[in-house]
Amino acid sequence: MNKLVLLFALILTFSFAVFAQKFDGDRKMNQPVEPFKIIGNVYYVGASDVTSYLITTPQGHILIDSGFEETVPQIKANVAKLGFKLEDVKILLINHAHYDHCGGLAELKKLTGARLYASPPDASVLEDGGASDFRFGGDRAFSFTPVKPDEILKDGQEIKLGGATLKTYFTFGHTKGATSWTTEAAENGGKYKVAIISSVTTLDYSFVDNPKYPQIAEDFTKTYQTLKNIKADVFLSSHGGFFDLTEKAQKLRAGAKPNPFIDPNGYRQFVARVTKQFEDKLKAEKAGKK
Ligand SMILES: [Zn+2]
Repeated sequence: MNKLVLLFALILTFSFAVFAQKFDGDRKMNQPVEPFKIIGNVYYVGASDVTSYLITTPQGHILIDSGFEETVPQIKANVAKLGFKLEDVKILLINHAHYDHCGGLAELKKLTGARLYASPPDASVLEDGGASDFRFGGDRAFSFTPVKPDEILKDGQEIKLGGATLKTYFTFGHTKGATSWTTEAAENGGKYKVAIISSVTTLDYSFVDNPKYPQIAEDFTKTYQTLKNIKADVFLSSHGGFFDLTEKAQKLRAGAKPNPFIDPNGYRQFVARVTKQFEDKLKAEKAGKK
């Protein structure tokens, strides 16, 4: 009996630790940081780890990712600090419909009046506030204020505004509608391909016989091939940790040349790493199910 009580206490402690870790982790990702110009017309306006990017043009701006619902005041302050107006944002995009990247969209849409674009699968999840997410739907900790997209994106679609072009890549898997973009930025006479890559991690997903997402393995496989085909000079993503945001920003601030965000090798290594992680997990799962 004593052993049972001890076991129960241990399980309880462990669950609390995991629970606390999740929420501590969330807050750690949302610390205010100084906004800055990354390269050309691409600016960083997000928090310490959940990212937001502003792409500026003479005819208004494009804002990618809202962070959490609580990140919006930071984004608002960051855009103003850089000398831009939030009301000039004409287009809102998100890399995937999880609460830490899209939670602030409803509020940002109200503040800017911008048009929100989303892929078909992410659009439905945005509209129901996360309820239909294949993994986290129904978990209140992962829900957010619902928001209705104005435009449904197509794979390969070019989004144009004031001379800037963003090319859309469907990179499904992390959510059924996760989306990435490329754009071109000019600096010191050079032109650079900037890739803004969605979360492409596999979390605790199962790939074999997943009734809520039967084509999950095919989608991830296609996504990693798509990423491999993108020849990125500047590599940005949904979480700062994926591309050493803090370290690169520090170097940039210290005057490092060339711009530390120009990192084609870092991008290739990232793609190779996430691809291998997926392939290893898929292999292990298939072996376990035999
Ligand atoms: Zn996510």
